[in-house]
Amino acid sequence: MTYNKKSIEDIDVSGKRVLVRCDFNVPLKDGVITSDKRIVEAVPTIKYLLGKGAAVILCSHMGKPKGEVNKKYTLAPVAARLTELLGQKVELAPDTIGPETKKMAAALPFGRALLLENTRFDKREEANDPEFAKELASMAEIFVNDAFGAAHRAHASTAGVAMYGGLPAVCGYLIQKEIGVMGKALEDPKRPFIAILGGAKVSDKIGVINNLLDRCDTIIIGGGMAYTFFKALGNEVGNSICEYDKLDIAREAIAKAKAKKVNFMLPVDNIIGKEYKEDTTYMRIYSDSIPDGWMGLDIGEKTQELYSKSIEGAGTIVWNGPMGVSEWPHFAGGTNAVAKAVSESGAISIIGGGDSAAAVEKLGYADKMTHVSTGGGASLEFLEGKELPGIACLQDK
Ligand code: AMP
Repeated sequence: MTYNKKSIEDIDVSGKRVLVRCDFNVPLKDGVITSDKRIVEAVPTIKYLLGKGAAVILCSHMGKPKGEVNKKYTLAPVAARLTELLGQKVELAPDTIGPETKKMAAALPFGRALLLENTRFDKREEANDPEFAKELASMAEIFVNDAFGAAHRAHASTAGVAMYGGLPAVCGYLIQKEIGVMGKALEDPKRPFIAILGGAKVSDKIGVINNLLDRCDTIIIGGGMAYTFFKALGNEVGNSICEYDKLDIAREAIAKAKAKKVNFMLPVDNIIGKEYKEDTTYMRIYSDSIPDGWMGLDIGEKTQELYSKSIEGAGTIVWNGPMGVSEWPHFAGGTNAVAKAVSESGAISIIGGGDSAAAVEKLGYADKMTHVSTGGGASLEFLEGKELPGIACLQDK
């Protein structure tokens, strides 16, 4: 899927009220933001609009309040962080489209920003309700979508405002960057193009595997999904996570790789544990079969070495999903080794959101990567070649 969408630079925003959908769905612990990456990544778009003299009405969802007001998911901490990052007081409206909020939006001076309360406090948001979308749109003259992390959802604030609200709709810098970098990797990659795919399940990643098999030179497999491939090849998997109903899909992927001459790499050794527990008994086995009573929880050192060697020579790398249960230190070695190899490769490196992005950030490699995506689900769907409704609804160039 290639997009050629208008951006904020292709439309006159001066002296206009601009509704900007951001992805401020940041992780919180006891009401404190634990990673402000998504807020920081939205700042260039907001600053550009403020600098052009627009009145900027920001909106976003946070968490899954299921259509009900729940103060646990208030955007108040985001308003406070935006106030620091923008150097101006950013007020939080009491709700998304209520009368007081509309008054605040109408009175907002040009060059100032206002944040609407969590869009998902109203169940019409996720239903992409046309009336709710029109109410949101009525506060502005232009719609800017910069919420890459929510672009795979057709919700009122991501697609509805453009579909039903009648506003001219363009993308912000973050969406432009995300689709630019990932689009180039899919359409015109520097070779060799290596895809690294991990995580729990083959079923979650099969769309990406299939799309990338048409484009890449090597696919490196790790994480729980490796064991479904092991089983599909006739190996034993013990108690490892394995999707027994997906063995055919796994076999088809291996056959496709062979037909397309894609180097399909699976672990040759494994770190296995007795139980699915952080402090379980564990050991390394020099085998691609998992013994009875054990489960594979990470790739082994020989595999780390082979994968790192392959990564070393890459031109483009797309990585999505950990190589093992990377949340637990004993089983994080594979993910850490791959993160290190990617960061040192000199390749164009694109890290999908979620656990692999978290590992890269935690290890301090984020700055060494070409791009760490802000969207887990959205980047997966993009890599699958699916249309993202929050982007499809924007004006073409
Ligand atoms: P995903 O969201 O599909 O990228 O999967 C990430 C999850 O996969 C993480 O929570 C990991 O703990 C889990 N995972 C990775 N490797 C394994 C494994 N060998 N067994 C069980 N879970 C795993």
